[in-house]
Amino acid sequence: MPHHYLLTPGPLTTTDATRRAMARDWGSRDQDFIALTRRVRDRLCGLARAERSHSSVLIQGSGTFAIEATIQSLVPRDGKLLVLVNGAYGRRMAEIARRLGRKLAVIESDEDRPVDPAAAAACLDRDEGVTDVAIVHCETTSGVLNPLQDVADIVAKRGRRLIVDAMSSFGAIAIDAGATRSAALVASSNKCLEGVPGIGFVVADRAVLEGAAGNAISLSLDLHAQWRGFEADGQWRFTPPTHILAALDAALDQLEVEGGVPARGARYRRSCDAVVAGMRALGFVPLLAPEHQAPIIVAFHRPPKLDFERFYALMFRRGFSIYPGKLTRIDTFRIGCIGAIDEQVMREAVAAVADTIAAMGLSAAALGAA
Ligand SMILES: *Cc1c(COP(=O)(O)O)cnc(C)c1O
Repeated sequence: MPHHYLLTPGPLTTTDATRRAMARDWGSRDQDFIALTRRVRDRLCGLARAERSHSSVLIQGSGTFAIEATIQSLVPRDGKLLVLVNGAYGRRMAEIARRLGRKLAVIESDEDRPVDPAAAAACLDRDEGVTDVAIVHCETTSGVLNPLQDVADIVAKRGRRLIVDAMSSFGAIAIDAGATRSAALVASSNKCLEGVPGIGFVVADRAVLEGAAGNAISLSLDLHAQWRGFEADGQWRFTPPTHILAALDAALDQLEVEGGVPARGARYRRSCDAVVAGMRALGFVPLLAPEHQAPIIVAFHRPPKLDFERFYALMFRRGFSIYPGKLTRIDTFRIGCIGAIDEQVMREAVAAVADTIAAMGLSAAALGAA
């Protein structure tokens, strides 16, 4: 059977080795499973260059579960969270804080550009009540890379805590938990680490974790309690996603063999360049200026003449899952560059797009008129 490729922001295409790692059962209290948990936790801290200062906490569920655990556990009940929003994932963090009843400030900016560090600085100078700042590193809505280090410096200088949604960058774009003085980096098993979905995790500052007791209003999403559980006996508090953890460990082996974060980022960049060049040649126009484009996912303007649902279905039949857009004002669709694929697959995807638009009776000229 020919391979089906997921050109999406997750779940992603995984390797046979990663999927094979799930072909046995573990008991949650078995010594080898406890060792597996320890190993994965250590490796995640290592990826953030934070073995000493930070500790990692695994959470059952998708990435959003880990974000929700982080916000409710780190932002004190009487604290106030500033969220820098330039897309759906920033907006989601604000919504989580609102639901939790935390005080909230939001700086919303254009979805096709990075957030503005100066606006964050002005807000922190003006509003003494803000205790924590949340930023999305790569805003997957548009594919834009936000200026993490600049914002981190501003936040640290003003003595506030920084929460980073690093979901779609962790493992592909270097993040130094020390240099950014991050209270928490949040990501998941199924994006740039190329595992299967089901585990969210937080690489959190140890002192911040220590001080987080009693903040959470949820039992299962209490990051402090989850961390204490791991530290006490090496076990998960509730039924662990055993097979998913084994797949993540195998995926981390492969990340190491590939050459770590720089090599993975470079592969994604080659894929990104291949898809941008190929789609441009067909008349499609990327949403972002090249200097703002992270090598994770590319948003293209949807040409008015292109029926996305039909385009999607025809691409699926050719072996590729693409992704709808998520911007509020601009009509786009997206092609992901992450997962166990390379630029050759991206060139095949572009060839499938060429085929598909021909089958739909659309010429490059008709698309270029977008
Ligand atoms: C994928 C993603 C999330 C989490 O989404 P889930 O569907 O819960 O895994 C959060 N933030 C960003 C930036 C993402 O790309």
